[in-house]
Amino acid sequence: MDEKVIRIDRLSIFGMKTHASLQYPDECCGLMFGQRTKNKTVKIQECVPLNNMEDSLQSKRHFTVSPMSVWSVEKAAGKRGLEIIGIYHSHPDTGAYLSKEDEEKMIPGQIYAVVSVGNEGCREIRMWEKASVDAGIVEHRYEGAL
Ligand SMILES: [Zn+2]
Repeated sequence: MDEKVIRIDRLSIFGMKTHASLQYPDECCGLMFGQRTKNKTVKIQECVPLNNMEDSLQSKRHFTVSPMSVWSVEKAAGKRGLEIIGIYHSHPDTGAYLSKEDEEKMIPGQIYAVVSVGNEGCREIRMWEKASVDAGIVEHRYEGAL
C-alpha cells in the first residue's frame, strides 16, 4: 500500500495529547474523524475521547471501547459531514509502537494512532494503517503541529 499524507489540525493533536495526559497512567482511547480525499490525503479534523472500559487492573496496558459509544459518536460526526478515520490510544510510559495486541485488533482501512505519554506529558505520536486483511502494516507520516 502506498503511504498516505495525513494532515491533522492543531486542535486534534492537542485533543489527543491532552486526553493521553489526563488519563495517565491509564491508557486513553478515542476516535479520529475527518475526510479522505481522492489524492491519498487524509484530513483529521476532530478527535473524540471515548471511555476506556477496562478495569483499573487492565487499563494501564489495554483499552476496550463500547460499540454503542462508537456508534453514537460516529453518527454525530456523520451529521457534521465527517467520516471515521481511525482510532487513537495511548501507551503510558512506553514508546509509540504497535503492540502484538494492537496489530491483531487493527481494522483494515482504519488509521491507528499511538500516543506515547509519560509523567511529563506527550512524547510522540505515530500512525499506522493496514489497508486490507491481507495487507501489511504501513506507517504514515503526518503533517501537523506536535
Ligand atoms: Zn497499544
